[in-house]
Amino acid sequence: MTWLGWESLGGVLTSGPAVSSWSNGRLDCFVRGTDSALWHKWFDGGWSGWESLGGILTSSPAAVSWGRGRIDVFVRGTDSALWHKWFDGGWSGWESLGGVLTSEPAVCSWASGRLDVFARGTDSALWHKWFDGGWSGWESLGGVLTSGPGAVSWGRGRIDVFGAGTDSALWHKWFDGGWSGWESLGGILTSTPAVSSWRPGRLDVFVAGTDSAMWHKWFQNGWSGWESLGGVLTSAPAAVSWGPNRIDTFVMGTDSAMWHKWWSAVPTVRVHAKVLTAPNIPIATMLQRMRDVYASVGIAVEHASTENLNLPTLNDVDVGACTLGNTTAEQNALFANRNNAGANDVVVYFVRSTVPPFNGCAAHPAGRPGAVVVQGATQWTLGHEVGHVLGLFHVNDNDRLMTGNGTANITNPPPDIIGSERTTMLNSALTQDI
Ligand SMILES: [Zn+2]
Repeated sequence: MTWLGWESLGGVLTSGPAVSSWSNGRLDCFVRGTDSALWHKWFDGGWSGWESLGGILTSSPAAVSWGRGRIDVFVRGTDSALWHKWFDGGWSGWESLGGVLTSEPAVCSWASGRLDVFARGTDSALWHKWFDGGWSGWESLGGVLTSGPGAVSWGRGRIDVFGAGTDSALWHKWFDGGWSGWESLGGILTSTPAVSSWRPGRLDVFVAGTDSAMWHKWFQNGWSGWESLGGVLTSAPAAVSWGPNRIDTFVMGTDSAMWHKWWSAVPTVRVHAKVLTAPNIPIATMLQRMRDVYASVGIAVEHASTENLNLPTLNDVDVGACTLGNTTAEQNALFANRNNAGANDVVVYFVRSTVPPFNGCAAHPAGRPGAVVVQGATQWTLGHEVGHVLGLFHVNDNDRLMTGNGTANITNPPPDIIGSERTTMLNSALTQDI
């Protein structure tokens, strides 16, 4: 998994940003400008200019998509009440939802036709109000908050709410038929948390830490530790998932501009090295050459582990005709050694030689993906053999990694992988989104 760099979206901010994805390929951002009005900017292929929605704000905005073609925006007005404005072909006027707020609102769509709003009241407790045909009264969820709440829908019929408690720790409460008690997630907060669901069963939470850097924690069956994403923050972060395997995060930087950072899963081949005889070209060099070639088609190579194996009877391994699906007893014995390797990890056995002699051989027993590479292999043999393991076949073209004429005869280093080969590699279960 990879965090990409920060990009600046420019400088009208006086509040933390609020973000809402509104349809596939579209991203809407709302902020309070230097004139205290609400400003809006969106991404749809490229970033638009800013547009002003008018001027009643005393809090950062909260935004939510609520059905196709509709955006709902909530803010605290000059009367401390919650105000609501929506876009449905055009922008409506503002409507007031009443006056219990002492924090920024948090908003979460929870089902078709329903909208849930959370705010901190004058008693510092969390209050909840919802729209379902009409607006409900406010209900109190109890009193640990010292920050604005962050809320997110996480699966059918469930809402998760996060707040900073009186101990500055992050607290979590959820609705699933009824409201749970609060649970503490630990104590590095200096900002309101921002939350983004990323896919079923996963929940991502972002906060500013005591070092002013952005911190990230996620739930996937259990809560992870915190990780730091670096230090440009002067506002609470806002986060939104925008498409499979993508998270977008927005913050106000020290220059008061809005900054954007995103997370994207990267297709990755995980390689474990099992060494019977070290090759003449170091394994690290072969891995770097493999990375150079695979990076040209957007595939990362992770060196997951190295283990020395003392198996002298398999060091000149009988590979027969080296055909996939037809392995020898010696290959079966060698490929049984998969310490540390997951089911979809590739294990490469570095041996003295094969019988008959090849530079390598990618034939492997079912369920044990891997290859052998011999002592006298070339700098390209590792990437070539793993290419076979990922489903590639020989071609008669010495400009390409998968040349069948021997990788020693490659004429244009680094060699090519063509588009159809890339598709095959990405479709392999051995290319994992990490
Ligand atoms: Zn080959």
